[in-house]
Amino acid sequence: VRPHYKSGKDAREKLAADVDDLRELQPRLYASGTWALLLIFQGMDTSGKDGAISHVLSGLNPEGCEAYSFKVPSAEESAHDFLWRTTCRLPARGRIGVFNRSYYEEVVVVRVHPHLLERQRLPGSEENSPHFWRHRCRSINDFERHLRHNGTRVLKFFLHLSKHEQRRRLVARIDDPDKNWKFEDGDVRERRRWRDYAAAYEQCLGHTSTRHAPWHIIPADDKLNARLIIARTVIETLRSLKLAMPKVSRARRGELRDIRRKLAPKS
Ligand code: AMP
Ligand code: MG
Repeated sequence: VRPHYKSGKDAREKLAADVDDLRELQPRLYASGTWALLLIFQGMDTSGKDGAISHVLSGLNPEGCEAYSFKVPSAEESAHDFLWRTTCRLPARGRIGVFNRSYYEEVVVVRVHPHLLERQRLPGSEENSPHFWRHRCRSINDFERHLRHNGTRVLKFFLHLSKHEQRRRLVARIDDPDKNWKFEDGDVRERRRWRDYAAAYEQCLGHTSTRHAPWHIIPADDKLNARLIIARTVIETLRSLKLAMPKVSRARRGELRDIRRKLAPKS
């Protein structure tokens, strides 16, 4: 893929400009209070989800957004339906929510490791049926349509990493002492299932890319480029909402002037 920048310096300047645009758009989202924005990040280990989130969203007012990383579900979470824990973390109107992994793990990692379903104690043992995963995808599509109709725009980013680049990043996490803390033995174990993940993702993306919530496939081997594409996509989506600061009526302007007079009689 052709990068959207000429040099590292150029990329950083472009991203800084995008971060400024986002900083200006967020208060309008908040003030107009009609829409919520949900950003979903999926991708293999080391695909750059955390870096993309921290760089692209670095200009946002923390009071208007919340980011959440979904890990292996707890016992309480497993005792609910598979959309429950993410539903609890949805952004309210006016806010930006970020999901670092999401309910999509339920049709990817769980599909690669179906034994994980045992903890969910689903009625029957239909997980082996070809319909099981299709039904899950349909639940997701229904859910995202529901969100859209109720004012939440869902933007889904799949960070598409090559196996070769993942090796490079894992090796860097071993070689660079400052990155050792990031290295997880489990990542190497999951890497051996690369083909299964690729197949699960292919099915998942194919079945859940809808008109109201399409997937954005982001080439992720080049981190700078990935961040620029994500930033542009978020900006374009916010602009498409035609957000404006709320206008008050003439009568209300009159009321405000009255209040002002009482507030500061001498000025
Ligand atoms: P990380 O994002 O590297 O901090 O790792 C989080 C881990 O939690 C990943 O290995 C995910 O696959 C795993 N995980 C997230 N959601 C689920 C889920 N619903 N079921 C099973 N594992 C999950
Ligand atoms: Mg990890």
